[in-house]
Formats: sequence, structure tokens, C-alpha cells
Amino acid sequence: IIQVSNLQKSFGQLSVLKNITFDVKKNDVIAVIGPSGSGKSTMLRSIIHLEKVDNGSIRINEDDLVKNGIYPNDRKIKQITHKMGMVFQHFNLFPHLTVKENLEIAPLVVQSEKIEIVRKRSTEVLEKVGLSDKANVFPAKLSGGQKQRVAIARALMMNPDILLFDEPTSALDPELTGEVLKVMKILAQEHMTMIVVTHEMGFAKEVANRILFMDNGEIVESGSPEQLFSNPKNERTKSFLTKAY
Ligand code: ATP
Ligand code: MG
Repeated sequence: IIQVSNLQKSFGQLSVLKNITFDVKKNDVIAVIGPSGSGKSTMLRSIIHLEKVDNGSIRINEDDLVKNGIYPNDRKIKQITHKMGMVFQHFNLFPHLTVKENLEIAPLVVQSEKIEIVRKRSTEVLEKVGLSDKANVFPAKLSGGQKQRVAIARALMMNPDILLFDEPTSALDPELTGEVLKVMKILAQEHMTMIVVTHEMGFAKEVANRILFMDNGEIVESGSPEQLFSNPKNERTKSFLTKAY
């Protein structure tokens, strides 16, 4: 469903992505791990076009988001990225809108969808993330875990084919992390295709079918959770995993 090949990106003199190549198949849950500054967020942001790469290609559903560093026009880009949703570390909910309004605003205003359809879907996705009782509450009244579940629900409102998560639990207290991981686990069981940048090694081990280890702008090692966690081949992977536990 996604093919990334030879991605390269620099910020000024700093080379942040160096020849990143990997595939995502439909229903994959891919966990991306690696030290701070290794380029994980930049890689994810490039896939959903929050960053432009300098070179390389990203194919999404047989469409070229970028080919050898060349991007198509904005309309085409929008059409390609439209079927992806992203959940960030900080949830960025609109404080002056209720939970339900936060979910409905983009489909109604940006997508001009019919209100009955959008209402029905917001009811469904709130149920899925376990927040039906919070529909008419303002974000300030929610815990961090609940806010993050609203952010996931908001991404689901767009009926994405692919969900990208950038450290969705790292701003949360440990006791709130579990409820968010649980929702993500349910999505995985429902065969949502996901790429998850995470420090939660337990989640990566249990839910992901493939792990990518990034260091210094490269994918140093990739493999199944069993292989990568129990039998890492690369010295850098070994050293990272020793520190991470
Ligand atoms: P973390 O685990 O801390 O989130 P990361 O693996 O997500 O790290 P990135 O955020 O992708 O790392 O950053 C990779 C490198 O690119 C870092 O050295 C960072 O300082 C740099 N960088 C990221 N965004 C920018 C930017 N907008 N301008 C300049 N440098 C940037
Ligand atoms: Mg990051």
C-alpha cells in the first residue's frame, strides 16, 4: 500500500533521511523505533506530506506522492494524502469546540460531507474509542488519554486507509498510556494499516508485525518483533535495545 524508496532529506547541512527504503503492505502494523533525532518523525511527516523530501520516491496506493524528488501538483498531492490520517504526540484539539464538534468539523467544512452522514460516523468512532459519554464535553474537561483517544477518533472520521502515529503516548502519564494503546490494538485487530513511531517496546512487540529500527537517518535493521528483539543483528540495534529496557 506504501512503497518508500531512497528517501533523502536534509535540513540545511544536516542530513536527516539517508536512503530510506521500505514497503508497507495492507494490514501491516509497523513500529518504528530508534533514538531521539534519528529521523523517525521526519520520515513519517514526509509520507503524509507535512515535509517535502529532497530526493527519492513515495508511492501510495499505486500513486506517486513523489517520484525521484519530483512532486505532482497540489490537487494531486491532496488526493493522494487524503486517505491517510495522522495522530501526533500533542493532540491539538480545538479548545472551543466540543468533542463531537472536533470530530465533525473537518468532514463538514473541508470535505463538505452531508451532516447526517457525519453525525452517524462521529457516533460510531466515539463508541470505538470508548468515549460515547464525552461527546458534548470540551477538551479541557478530558484527561490526556481521553484527549488522545479523541485525536484518534478525529483521524478515523476521514475513513483513512492508513494511520500514522508519532509517539501517541509519550506525552501521557504511564497510567493513561494503556487506554490509548488499547484503542490502537483494536484498530490493529480490525486490520487498519498503521505505522507507529513509539517508545513502547511492549506495544511494538505485541501488536506490530514488523519493526524498523532507525538510527542517524537510516533504517539500520528491520524484521519481525521476535527477530529484532530477541536476535538483533546490528550492533547499533543491540546497543539501543539494551538502553531502552
Ligand atoms: P525524537 O525521538 O526526539 O522525536 P526523531 O527520530 O523523530 O526524534 P526527527 O524529529 O525526525 O527525529 O529529527 C531528525 C533530525 O532533524 C534532528 O536532528 C532534528 O533536530 C532535525 N530537524 C527536525 N525538524 C527540523 C526542522 N524543521 N528544521 C531543522 N532541523 C530539523
Ligand atoms: Mg519524533
